[in-house]
Amino acid sequence: MRSLSETSSVKQAGGRLMDKVAMITGAASGIGREIALTFAREGAKVVIADLDQQAARRTAAEIDPTGKRALGVAMDVGNEEQVEIGMGQAIQAFGRLDVLVSNAGVQIVGPLVEFEFAKWKKLLSIHLDGAFLTTRAALRQMYKQNSGSIIYMGSVHSKEASPLKAPYVTAKHGLIGLAKVVAKEGADRGVRANVICPGFVRTPLVEKQIPEQAREFGISEAEVVKNIMLKETVDGQFTTVQDVAETALFLAAFPSNALTGQSLVVSHGWSMQ
Ligand code: NAD
Repeated sequence: MRSLSETSSVKQAGGRLMDKVAMITGAASGIGREIALTFAREGAKVVIADLDQQAARRTAAEIDPTGKRALGVAMDVGNEEQVEIGMGQAIQAFGRLDVLVSNAGVQIVGPLVEFEFAKWKKLLSIHLDGAFLTTRAALRQMYKQNSGSIIYMGSVHSKEASPLKAPYVTAKHGLIGLAKVVAKEGADRGVRANVICPGFVRTPLVEKQIPEQAREFGISEAEVVKNIMLKETVDGQFTTVQDVAETALFLAAFPSNALTGQSLVVSHGWSMQ
């Protein structure tokens, strides 16, 4: 297989992230993977950080088998030591960090009244501890450089609620608070922070929910898609990984503090503000 860097889709010069270094967590799959591919195409060196080490390395090798422009690192984002080690490896390999995309996430659905505390803590740890730990590690490097852009993967559930998703909705709302603090603390050190809030995207995370929700609500899988997931969109369409990656590129490449502390909904009109 030809690597991405050998294909004509790679911009050899003038990419919008030329020689920037970006770490994307949860980038072995779904939205994070597409962001890594898009950033690499725009000239960035990318660090694919994921719980699934083999898949992280596979994605990195697909982008650049020589390892000069893409690195896969094993990282549980909720584990302080692993985040520190992974960030250290990234900075050792590429010398700097310009963009952090805090994207790793899971979904666990169930009615609040019987939700297991262990599952609640697990979800909050991945989304919120993960965002905090990777942000703290990234800021240390970005402050040295006096520049950086941090992007959190929120959700329409950063702004809206749905039944059965208590910890997810709680965590995704929390990311907006974190981004606003980073925007204020980071402003005079050249660091911006923003949140992307996608609607439903057909990744493994969502494919898993379709039968789960069909069971919980006693409806068909087609009804879950039509009457729950896409009900509030303007056109009944799923958001795509490319839609989200383009938004991440826009935020990563934005040149000034004019765009910081904001959250951008990318959802075919579900949740208009
Ligand atoms: P996905 O399941 O395709 O990918 C998630 C990735 O995160 C996987 O590679 C997984 O190994 C990794 N991961 C899970 N736990 C981790 C941990 N503790 N440490 C490091 N990596 C870990 O899911 P996706 O749909 O691409 O989701 C990515 C992000 O987008 C999540 O934060 C999710 O909440 C958010 N999001 C998804 C949708 C959607 O509809 N798919 C919508 C809005 C927001």
